[in-house]
Amino acid sequence: MTTTDQPARPSRAPMSGRAIVQSQFDRAADLINLEAYMRKILMSPFREVQVEVPVRMDDGRIEVFTGYRIQHNGARGPCKGGIRYHPEADHDEVLGLAAIMTWKTALMDIPFGGAKGGVTVNPKKLSKLELERLTRRFTQRIAIVLGPYRDIPAPDVNTNAQVMAWILDEYSSRQGYTPAVVTGKPVALGGSLGREEATGRGVMYVIQEYARDFGIPLKGSRVVIQGFGNVGSHLARLLDSEAGAKVIAVSAVEGGIYNDKGLDIPGLLAHVAQGKPVTEWTGGKSITNDELWTIPCDWLVPAALGGVITKESNARTIDCKVVVEGANEPTTPTADRILEERGIAVIPDFLANAGGVTVSYYEWAQNLQQYRWTHEQVNRELKATITKAYLSVRDLAKQKAVTFRTAAYGIALQRVADAERLRGN
Ligand code: NAD
Repeated sequence: MTTTDQPARPSRAPMSGRAIVQSQFDRAADLINLEAYMRKILMSPFREVQVEVPVRMDDGRIEVFTGYRIQHNGARGPCKGGIRYHPEADHDEVLGLAAIMTWKTALMDIPFGGAKGGVTVNPKKLSKLELERLTRRFTQRIAIVLGPYRDIPAPDVNTNAQVMAWILDEYSSRQGYTPAVVTGKPVALGGSLGREEATGRGVMYVIQEYARDFGIPLKGSRVVIQGFGNVGSHLARLLDSEAGAKVIAVSAVEGGIYNDKGLDIPGLLAHVAQGKPVTEWTGGKSITNDELWTIPCDWLVPAALGGVITKESNARTIDCKVVVEGANEPTTPTADRILEERGIAVIPDFLANAGGVTVSYYEWAQNLQQYRWTHEQVNRELKATITKAYLSVRDLAKQKAVTFRTAAYGIALQRVADAERLRGN
């Protein structure tokens, strides 16, 4: 596989995902005076699996991909986390993301630990059949560490409900029908109503709470979103239709679109649904991915990939009141400090984007109960869970005079450490 025609991605941050998580961890561990041995337990992964994934391509060749499943911590429940297909998915990235899942499930107070998976592949170069064969082979190779009470995958970058359906089928063909082994499935196969939009919806609920607390009226406020995939597109739709905010710019891998009066989001969604690039939408001015960061706004939401807000690129020039991390790890630690010095608040990833895993928990619970919730019930529970987490972070941040990120880490670390101690560590 060549690297020349891989999808564009923000220039890689100088730090790996793992290093980013480590540096943020240390600050919060100091805040709660965590013992040295517990720091070691909480930073080290519980189990790492690396597999070779040979796949028969449509032209008869066999291509071999590398896949990872890393279970970071399972003290509070079965490990939980997405699987991503990306040319730059590697061990360190997957490990950093697995650790974030541990903190995210702990902060939401849902009974899961943290895991993540990835395959180093450019899925855009695969046919649908090749993608299915890759998914089935990867599932076979990691199935030994999966299970409804062991480790439950979900969608992430470049994986979706169809990929989860293949995982379900492959796992169930050996173990018997096991819908609870994976979440983010199609509703017809036991997926939860409201799961697809859950991450974007959770981001909106957190923004609504923050807006109320910090006096930034959401109605009519200006929003810029990087990424128009699952998270970015649902967030744009919900902020536009339910919160009355003005989404003035969005971007995707090919570039962005900007309209100072506010984009016609339903029109843009219909345009993209036809497979057309956002840059060809006529309801705004086409912009480059770099220009997106220069647009003055109230809320800036990175919702694409990690390491996009850096000291070297945009941390000193971003012009917004609040950065809301829809993506995982979009801000490097140095950039985080620059934003702090500049008085720009950051709502951290594992609070802002926790709606997905929270509704994944409801999906898992529905599968185990063999019972289906209504969409309204899912949304109501999500709002209650994420708002409770938000309030605990806000209160600790105020009490200790620290950032939302450090406070969120402090709460999560404390919960995981308590579970480890109760289990005898
Ligand atoms: P996705 O694959 O559906 O969408 C990604 C979007 O980012 C696409 O619109 C793509 O074109 C765009 N993009 C890629 N490179 C870009 C670039 N250089 N500039 C601008 N846009 C670019 O992925 P997703 O599920 O929406 O996930 C996005 C982020 O949110 C990831 O960091 C993921 O880990 C995180 N996240 C997702 C979920 C979920 O439920 N889907 C939950 C929590 C966190």
